[in-house]
Amino acid sequence: MSDDHYITSEDPDHPANLIPSLCAKFWTLGWVTGTGGGCSIRNDDLVYIAPSGVQKELMKNTDIYVLALSKQTDLKNRVYLRSPPCGRPSQCTPLFLAAFTKRGAGCCIHTHSHWAVLVTLLLEAQGPGKDKLFEINNIEQIKGFGKGFQKQGNLGYHDTLRIPVIENTAHEEDLTEFLEEAMDQHPDTYAVLVRRHGVYVWGDNVHKAKTMCESLDYLFQLAVEMKQLGIPWLSDIPVTVPTSRR
Ligand SMILES: [Zn+2]
Repeated sequence: MSDDHYITSEDPDHPANLIPSLCAKFWTLGWVTGTGGGCSIRNDDLVYIAPSGVQKELMKNTDIYVLALSKQTDLKNRVYLRSPPCGRPSQCTPLFLAAFTKRGAGCCIHTHSHWAVLVTLLLEAQGPGKDKLFEINNIEQIKGFGKGFQKQGNLGYHDTLRIPVIENTAHEEDLTEFLEEAMDQHPDTYAVLVRRHGVYVWGDNVHKAKTMCESLDYLFQLAVEMKQLGIPWLSDIPVTVPTSRR
């Protein structure tokens, strides 16, 4: 029997249809140009992944790989329920799987956004000891982030958003152990920056992952521009309370 039933659906929200349409939108933002970056969606045990080395804005549902988390006993020999006739599995696969297995995420997005890369370069320029964590507070868009793993609600305007940074490796899959280490050290983060490379962002579902990825890109761009203007990312500003709430 053909394995195409995993990817054949009229529903635009089916992961095999949603990954190509999301990637086409991400391409216009410069997040997945030159075949870099990608997106993966988990539906219970099934994981849908964009292939490696393809034009991300031109992908079709027939390009999508499908695997079952429960069948991945040997990490060196990954078992796919469906593989496209041509193409190769994404090098991001073990990183996406880390977000699904360690955080129970429903979606993971990887971008090569200029703003993410620039933020890692600005941190690098601060020198050793000051280059491993991006921190920003007192910006409205911080409210786009969840409080953390298994926590209810979102961060507030005055809260500090912290995103760890890991060093890049020659091969994308070799990032996995460092990404997992960053997840352990920062259990509440929904994103990890990769130096001179980009960012991985995940969420409980597609909506949350996309919202956080967009909010983060907005904040990265803002952070780069703040730096150019000599404005610090962390500020100590008074809390304004309306008269009716005092
Ligand atoms: Zn990448």
